[in-house]
Amino acid sequence: MHELSIARSVIDSVEKICQDDHLSKVKEVTLEIGSMSGVSKSALLFCWPLATKQTLLEDCHLVVNEIPLTLECLACNKQSSPDVFVMYCEHCGSSNVRMQRGNELKIKNMEAY
Ligand SMILES: [Zn+2]
Repeated sequence: MHELSIARSVIDSVEKICQDDHLSKVKEVTLEIGSMSGVSKSALLFCWPLATKQTLLEDCHLVVNEIPLTLECLACNKQSSPDVFVMYCEHCGSSNVRMQRGNELKIKNMEAY
């Protein structure tokens, strides 16, 4: 499962931070996942307890913030947030757009002691 390997890489990063900061237990991790990142929130939450077993993150609470797709139009400078994955401006129809948000997968916050 794709999400299991994502969970493992998140756990690796968090454990590395804990080692550097001499922390022994992680209480909560908050992730930001863009709606276009291809990661399923429910699948990630589902495999989280299994992936964190016997790590510093065992029993750690996972919070997932979903970030909607935001496009910036380079023609009219307006932003749009389409519900589906399209790469054109909702205001002027230009395809000269840049993905501003929606593709992220990052650790936003963690609580450890
Ligand atoms: Zn536009």
